[in-house]
Amino acid sequence: MLIIRCHICGVFADETELQPGGEAHIKRYRSQSSTEDFSSYLFDRSNKKGIHFERWRHAYGCGKWFHVARCTETLEVFGSYSAQTLKPPKSILDKIKVIRPDFKGWKNE
Ligand SMILES: [Zn+2]
Repeated sequence: MLIIRCHICGVFADETELQPGGEAHIKRYRSQSSTEDFSSYLFDRSNKKGIHFERWRHAYGCGKWFHVARCTETLEVFGSYSAQTLKPPKSILDKIKVIRPDFKGWKNE
């Protein structure tokens, strides 16, 4: 079972209190974007095994959305952070690199 700390209210909640929202940091395109860009926004997801950055909502708590870095293979949670960011915070990326030296960084940054 996943235990995730809500970044907004600080509660450690199990997954039954939370609603998954899919991959985090998906780029939205303007209404004038191409059909390919809009299709990519709607359907293209990485869904990879290993370290993943996701959106979660504290559905039975504060109701707010936030982001979580976790491993889809071991269910290890590395941390939660604001959904108002364009990329994961350096503190979480550094924590992942310490625990998983083979981690290549977020989008290889
Ligand atoms: Zn909350």
